[in-house]
Amino acid sequence: MGSLEGAVAVVTGAGRGMGSAIAEELGYAGARVVVNYSRSKEPAEEVVEKLSGNGAEQAVAIGADVSDADQARELIEETLERFGRIDVLVNNAGITVDKTMKKLTTDEWDRVVQVDLNSCYYTVKAALPQFIEQESGKIINISSFVGQAGNFGQTNYAAAKAGIIGFTKSAAQELARYNVTVNAICPGFIETEMFSAVPEEVKDRIRQRIPLGRIGEPREVARAVRFLVEDGDYITGQTININGGIYMQ
Ligand code: NAD
Repeated sequence: MGSLEGAVAVVTGAGRGMGSAIAEELGYAGARVVVNYSRSKEPAEEVVEKLSGNGAEQAVAIGADVSDADQARELIEETLERFGRIDVLVNNAGITVDKTMKKLTTDEWDRVVQVDLNSCYYTVKAALPQFIEQESGKIINISSFVGQAGNFGQTNYAAAKAGIIGFTKSAAQELARYNVTVNAICPGFIETEMFSAVPEEVKDRIRQRIPLGRIGEPREVARAVRFLVEDGDYITGQTININGGIYMQ
């Protein structure tokens, strides 16, 4: 793609954490950014404000629970009404409900799969006609190293994140003919609200397991998204690991 100047990027779950870092990275690189949020409008508006320097309409916050197929479709429709195209779709929204299977309920299983995996299909499906018409597009799905390695107490999350990798490879094969690339990023432990929920002593044990000896920064993932968008024209169906070495393929 080269320059992001004028490109339109949708980032799901972009009110905080990795999503906001990705929205900012793409916005500062020149993209017009849709900052999607599900419940809290205010943080998403703050991201928009940061990006919308000089009163130029560079960013907009759009509310949609992307685990709901209709709302995911509306998010894409609103983006197209507003900007007329879509060049980048980053499926970042995600949740965890961590419990061993002994304690996990079917509802908690379903909820995580719905938000973390099914939402990716919903947004891609909705954006597909536009990508095909444009004959260009970059889809980036945020998976996790847990989808590759598994993790105690995360059967639901691991299954959803592994599902993203399979979805990514299949979508990449289907969409290559339209010049649309589809890649997954598998972050390791990254310093966001999701990670801050982990108890301090567990964090210490986690750090000891990471060869690079530290937790990753949201921006380190955001930079990889930008690389895939700007310089990744010949990269598709891949899984990019940004994990400090905690899992090596
Ligand atoms: P986070 O909890 O800080 O942010 C997740 C965002 O997704 C929030 O803004 C939340 O409101 C939004 N969201 C949740 N459900 C949604 C829905 N139904 N519709 C729209 N938005 C929704 O977490 P994060 O650490 O920034 O995680 C971002 C992504 O990275 C997630 O997919 C997560 O699974 C993945 N990830 C995180 C880590 C980590 O260590 N933080 C590691 C690997 C992968």
